Amino acid sequence: MLTLFDTALGRPCPLEPRDAGRLGIYLCGPTVSGEPHLGHGRVTVTWDILRRYLAWSGLDVRFVSNVTDIEDKVIARAAEEHRPVEEVAARYEALWWQVMDELGVLRPDATPHATEFVGQMVAAVAELLDRGHAYEGGDGVYFSTSSVPGYGLLAHQDLATLRAGARVEASEEAAKRSPLDFVLWKLAKPGEPWWPSPWGRGRPGWHTECVVMSLGLLGEGFDLHLGGLDLAFPHHENERAQALALGRAFARHWAHNGLVVDERGEKMSKSVGNITSLPDLLRSYDPRALRLVVLGARYRSPMDVSPQALAHARGALENLDSFARETRDLPPAEPDPGTLAGFRQHMDDDFDTPGALAVIFGAVRAARADRARAPALAAAVRTCCQDALGLPLRGAEEALGKEVADLVARRDAARRRRDWAEADSIRARLVALGYVVEDTPAGTSLHRQH
Ligand SMILES: [Zn+2]
Repeated sequence: MLTLFDTALGRPCPLEPRDAGRLGIYLCGPTVSGEPHLGHGRVTVTWDILRRYLAWSGLDVRFVSNVTDIEDKVIARAAEEHRPVEEVAARYEALWWQVMDELGVLRPDATPHATEFVGQMVAAVAELLDRGHAYEGGDGVYFSTSSVPGYGLLAHQDLATLRAGARVEASEEAAKRSPLDFVLWKLAKPGEPWWPSPWGRGRPGWHTECVVMSLGLLGEGFDLHLGGLDLAFPHHENERAQALALGRAFARHWAHNGLVVDERGEKMSKSVGNITSLPDLLRSYDPRALRLVVLGARYRSPMDVSPQALAHARGALENLDSFARETRDLPPAEPDPGTLAGFRQHMDDDFDTPGALAVIFGAVRAARADRARAPALAAAVRTCCQDALGLPLRGAEEALGKEVADLVARRDAARRRRDWAEADSIRARLVALGYVVEDTPAGTSLHRQH
């Protein structure tokens, strides 16, 4: 069984499912108000790897990740662009999925949109008021953080320390009883989107969105709540506090990934040379390179997505791809059990992906040195990379030029999002370049026409 560092407990803890053989996971999804950046890339790829590994290990995983399509940032972006909120949210959401498809991140089993759950959010706010955990301020309804015991668990700080460090938006200062209190229902200003409620026209607060959607789709006491470390406090703490106040059992386990930092170790919003946005990164790099950078770091550590790290990943990919080519004509074999056991041992030990990668590269070296064991070792490398980690190997084709490799990556992305027209048009271009195009479970495969 996989052991994962539990943020609430502050130590590694076996990930025991609520229902045997099944695992319900919630990951905070994007607020669709701009281009996805490197931090989003790390969060989504990290937890995509965990999700794939757990499914590969035989668990029936249900993965829910929301879309925050109504929130202050979406409204601000719409105002900047002088476009309707729904249109701006839809455009950035479409870009989000396009990038996720290119990165090979599996689509969630459910993607609840906040705007589809407003009725349930209003009901939750009403219940919090009834139970005495909320109060009406001038511009909305607020949650009283001092009304729940143990507030601050995920931050591992007590109420007094948190209160001393809290920053308060000027607009909310007069309304809140404590700087840690947060808005559950925000009254609409003129021109803002609104939904009806007993407290007036308005919209739900972000923290309320996630707690209602996660409990609504995964049920009480669901298994695992994931996110970036920057969301542990206050966002996740505030989700937890509301569930507690509503008397509902919330996530049984919490795990957080480290942030993307620059070379000085500061939380990054900018750089990789001058790249910050994922679409920009994907214009210059094979999407698998980012996955390999993520695999090469401990998931809780800060990660530096530098040009050097990406170049290193590119070299490692070339090594794996050429290994796949060298071994593609070997007879089929059962994956080498020793390699699989070593790989699992690292993955199960608090999701030690660098250790698991080392096992894979060890198997590559061993196969090159020992022809008799090569078929089994190659089969193990293939299943670990492609099935467990979501890292397809391009072994079937000869080394491709960058232009052709880009077309293959774009065609695979188009096929994943079922854009058959785009996939067919790229196929036609590849054929015109002299390739025979085949579809395989690992993606587009090419060979030269003779
Ligand atoms: Zn959330």
